[in-house]
Amino acid sequence: MPKAKVYDLSLFLIALVIAFSSAGILTSQSDFLKALSLYWLFSALYYHLRIFSKNGSTNIDYGISYDLSFVMFTGPFGLFIFEAVYRFTVYFYRKWTKTADPTEFTDTFYNIGVFVITNSIAYFLFQYFYNSFQSIPFGFWILLFLLTCLSSYLSRTFMVIVFKIMGDLKSFKEASNFILKSVSLLDYGKAALSNGFLFLFLQNGQWELLIVLFLLNYIVSRSFHSKQQSIQNKLERDKFEQMAYTDFLTGAYNRTYMDQIMAEFNKREERIGIVVADIDYFKQINDSYNHAVGDKVIQHFAATLKKFLSQDDYLFRSGGEEFTIYLRKRNFEETLDLVRMMRDEIRNNSVLAEYGGGEITVGCTGSFGLYYDKITELSSMEKAYVQADELLIKSKQLGKNKVSAQKAQSDKKVV
Ligand code: GH3
Ligand code: MG
Ligand code: MG
Repeated sequence: MPKAKVYDLSLFLIALVIAFSSAGILTSQSDFLKALSLYWLFSALYYHLRIFSKNGSTNIDYGISYDLSFVMFTGPFGLFIFEAVYRFTVYFYRKWTKTADPTEFTDTFYNIGVFVITNSIAYFLFQYFYNSFQSIPFGFWILLFLLTCLSSYLSRTFMVIVFKIMGDLKSFKEASNFILKSVSLLDYGKAALSNGFLFLFLQNGQWELLIVLFLLNYIVSRSFHSKQQSIQNKLERDKFEQMAYTDFLTGAYNRTYMDQIMAEFNKREERIGIVVADIDYFKQINDSYNHAVGDKVIQHFAATLKKFLSQDDYLFRSGGEEFTIYLRKRNFEETLDLVRMMRDEIRNNSVLAEYGGGEITVGCTGSFGLYYDKITELSSMEKAYVQADELLIKSKQLGKNKVSAQKAQSDKKVV
């Protein structure tokens, strides 16, 4: 038999021994049945709100457990019955909905075992310390909080042993982090308060209050759950959107996004500098070395341009080794100075690339066209872009490594 199975079944057997050697069910039969059905109902309802996370091949369940109040009311034998009924309900539900893991059957025994053992330990400690804690203010609640922490640490320790058996445990530090840090004090507080109230309501036969508390917990978790899901959906949407608009090689925005932003800027009456920048003699770099070296140069070119941008500016990879930049919130002179600085920085720096089994340094220069305009209905972004592109061609014709710039309309200035 695989080690994991032996482990799961041993835990279940220990739980069985604890249950049968305890004093039996501590309440009247009718109270027990009432409590059992309510706990079963709300735990089952709560089941789909649980948060799962995966560690290697093991699923970990981060839901709140009501076992502590149940064991305090009915004793370990009662808890054993509840756990068996509840866990097998989950088992059949998962089989029925075809969401069961291959090891679902032995996992069920593991869960019954761990939850009965840890909560029974908490139960015995509760009996033992109850009187001493009664004498301090909030003693009952403090004791419950400590027992909640303890049973959670214990069940995490059992889980760490599973990781070890499955080979999912990498280091001792990982194990101790998992035991001590994977649940927040807030979670313990929530579980301790819930179980404390549930226990008091059970003891005093306040069934209505018990149901209301279960409902409250359910509603709060449910609204949190749906909020968390919508945040998660939004995060995923944003990520996909970002991927759709980003050029993978350089991390700059792509052409699709450029067209979109262009359309948006047409609606604003904003002064803007549109720059088209192109690497000079790039084909030679590709031909002298290889495409990988060429890629490295393109990345270096983009990263250098990016260094000069503020938050409001945009960098797009508008073609193979051609970039378009929208420079905003600067006057013409400031924009021109910035573009000249970009050109100088490109010329003065080189990039390391792997070639022929060693490292080589590759330098390049860039040519720039800058068109500065106030965008209106008459002078659209598209028109400004064509002008910037023509200015780039002018820079190429003038011998490359140049900036050609022009300010639109009244005070036309050609540099
Ligand atoms: P100019 O100085 O006039 O700009 O000449 P150039 O050689 O830089 O420009 P040309 O347009 O003749 O060549 C650009 C080359 O860029 C052609 C194409 O094979 C290459 N290229 C386009 N995209 C990529 C890319 O993603 N990676 C690499 N390595 N090369 C690319
Ligand atoms: Mg080029
Ligand atoms: Mg080009």
